[in-house]
Amino acid sequence: MADRPNTKELRDLANRYVWMHNRDWAQMANDGDPIIIVDGDGVRVNDSEGKSWIDVNGGYASVNLGYGRTEIAEAAYQQLLDANYFPVNTTGPSTILLAEKLAKLAPGSLTRSFLVSSGTEANEVALKMARAYHRRRGEDGHYKIISRKGSYHGSTGGALWLGGSPAYVRDDYEPVYPGMVYAPQPNTYRCEMGGQSPSECAVLCAKAVEDLILFHGPETIVAFIGEPVTSGALVPGDEYWSMVRDICDRYGILLIADEVTCGFGRTGKMFAIEHWNIVPDIITVANGIVSSYLPLGAAIAKREVADHFAGQTRMFHQTFTFAGHPVSAAAALANITIMENDKVVEHVIDVGAYFKEALKGLMIDHPIVGDVRGLGLLLAIELVSDRETKAGFRTEQRVIARLNEKLKRHGLLYWASSEILSIGPPLSITRNEVDEIVRAFDLSLRELEAEMGL
Ligand code: PLP
Repeated sequence: MADRPNTKELRDLANRYVWMHNRDWAQMANDGDPIIIVDGDGVRVNDSEGKSWIDVNGGYASVNLGYGRTEIAEAAYQQLLDANYFPVNTTGPSTILLAEKLAKLAPGSLTRSFLVSSGTEANEVALKMARAYHRRRGEDGHYKIISRKGSYHGSTGGALWLGGSPAYVRDDYEPVYPGMVYAPQPNTYRCEMGGQSPSECAVLCAKAVEDLILFHGPETIVAFIGEPVTSGALVPGDEYWSMVRDICDRYGILLIADEVTCGFGRTGKMFAIEHWNIVPDIITVANGIVSSYLPLGAAIAKREVADHFAGQTRMFHQTFTFAGHPVSAAAALANITIMENDKVVEHVIDVGAYFKEALKGLMIDHPIVGDVRGLGLLLAIELVSDRETKAGFRTEQRVIARLNEKLKRHGLLYWASSEILSIGPPLSITRNEVDEIVRAFDLSLRELEAEMGL
């Protein structure tokens, strides 16, 4: 860009005027941050001082096809030239064709999409849909929603209070949204229910969902929401999702699968829930639908759910000005076309298995690597101070901050926020790029352990 202020000027302006996600501008000014990214290609981005970095998680595990795909940019540009938006109560070809495409991709009768601009919005819409659905059926008493501890579903009013873990601070925003009910997470590494195997943990955690429903009364519950595979790469034992599906059916409760991160090929299936052959009532998506080229998400509902909203008096009352934005839709159609032409899902199966094996290799030399897990390219390493007890670290050891600094010195843009190091790179990543990332983790962990006297 011609006539751009230099890096120091941009940095000063950023620290004076930009309110960045989860960053402290006083600290950034001290550290010579923020890094200012000017362009990118594949998994790499370049900063304003000419340094090249690997963006390990491709944004928020969201730049699925990598940076610099001109086909997506051109599709968006063409739509901008044709019609940048549409008048109220009309729609446009790209929005219609995207909804049709989603209906073809999604399993079962998940065929009607409410398009939005983010994962949070998709989940907010799903919650509203679920509540309104029960009212359309004449069952007014339902309002509670079951989510799982340790999950993340978004950052506004309702979605903020789904799930929850110490990594997602929300103390400033109390009181808790009404009607939130929390179930255990089927975390096979640390099973809250005491399960000693993935299967045992899955069965105990699914039964706990039923216990909660019975305790609260099925007539008060609207929906259950969970990510088929969590952002911390927790993969439940095989029994879990089919049991939860049966339980929801038994008590007339909607099952919402949050596929914001795990959808669109990330786990080696188009939708992660397809690993377990069940069909949720609503699937929410965002990130991979458009590889973060523009904001877009969707709540995709089963025909049997959506049909309750047909007819003037039954309409779903829900507006977002940017919902179904034609430019985002055009970009998403181009994104999905590339996914299909390049056989991205097949590539994820291959390179994801390779990446996981390489990360498992780190367990040989690094005693602080307690667990390596995940499916496809939704992976995670969990750090522990003691593999036997699975104990974490003391705050004053600053393990995460120190690891982040070291990874940065080895050329990785990577920001761990807890001892669970989530790894969700662009799906286009190559084996050579995997090797580069694993080598940088290896070196950084070695330095950290040496400093800690391990
Ligand atoms: N749900 C899941 C599983 C997520 O991982 C995220 C964000 O990473 C969200 C919802 C919220 O999406 P967004 O940040 O687009 O609002």
